[in-house]
Amino acid sequence: MITATPAPAQPASWQHQWREAITDPVELLRALDLDALLPSLAAAGARSFPLRVPRAFLARMRRGDPADPLLRQVLPLADEDRVVAGYGLDAVGDLASRAVPGVLHKYQGRALLVATGSCAVNCRYCFRRHFPYAEEGAAADRWRGALAWLAAHPDVDEVLLSGGDPWSLSDARLQELTDGLRRIPHLRRLRVHTRLPVVLPDRVDAGLLAWVRGLHLPLVVVVHANHPAELDPATARAFAALRAAGATLLNQAVLLQGVNDDPKVLAGLSESLFAQGVLPYYLHQLDRVAGTAHFAVDDALARRLHQDLRRRLPGYLVPRLVREEAGQPYKVPL
Ligand SMILES: *Cc1c(COP(=O)(O)O)cnc(C)c1O
Ligand code: SF4
Repeated sequence: MITATPAPAQPASWQHQWREAITDPVELLRALDLDALLPSLAAAGARSFPLRVPRAFLARMRRGDPADPLLRQVLPLADEDRVVAGYGLDAVGDLASRAVPGVLHKYQGRALLVATGSCAVNCRYCFRRHFPYAEEGAAADRWRGALAWLAAHPDVDEVLLSGGDPWSLSDARLQELTDGLRRIPHLRRLRVHTRLPVVLPDRVDAGLLAWVRGLHLPLVVVVHANHPAELDPATARAFAALRAAGATLLNQAVLLQGVNDDPKVLAGLSESLFAQGVLPYYLHQLDRVAGTAHFAVDDALARRLHQDLRRRLPGYLVPRLVREEAGQPYKVPL
């Protein structure tokens, strides 16, 4: 096999960047001059849910700062191995709401396709660390089960792609889905929940933009940034291209101790998102998932932070503070 070296001016393809992600915590800490943190690494948590960080995301971390808010989101710390009461494996009732493999139906009018189990980044606070999403992907049977379920449920008019990260799928696999959706007349909106435009902005390439432009349904893209330092000129370009292709852009964040539990940081996130063409949507209280308790912010502080945001920002830049609770018909406002 001949391996070609990409010309220096051309950015590497997103698939190449995906493969080149850092997966070794020691390499990550050395790259940031943080050898001092080596003894605090997790053992068990890191084995079951390994480190994974695209280099484009690493580039936004501050060298030599053990408290860097981006690093904290991805570094498997020994805190994860603690067992904490109230933190379980299926915190938000996903298993109970599975309609058919790969389809979760919790809320009226909306169905969520667990498109795939893959993500470009492994976020330590994520519910995905335990749910068996990998075996459940709706794309696995070329979407047949999910499409049949949607066709049989005329009350569902919005399809959400989530995961995992749906944009980790190839453009061809996405096209296969939307060709199928075209044959279901009661659908009115398509929504994609993705962290790729933030953590690996080159995913928003010509192929993906062609897919967006070719959609027959209005597209809402909910990106996921938790801290303003996650946004840079590359994310701005990705968002601008998506908007130019017709997508509406929203952001969801998770309230995380040591990352964004600070009114100035949250206000800065809203301001930076708006400057890049994205409106804040949700600020989620953490799902109580085993291994994530060290990220929890108590509800009283969460409410104070949210009130502070209301004072500081125009209403349209204040995200809705919610918690997902198993069995509830919507994300519950705090
Ligand atoms: C969060 C979620 C949705 C979307 O809820 P919105 O409030 O419309 O953003 C839909 N389905 C499932 C299963 C969800 O978890
Ligand atoms: S689903 Fe989202 S939050 Fe969870 S690991 Fe993937 S990118 Fe991170």
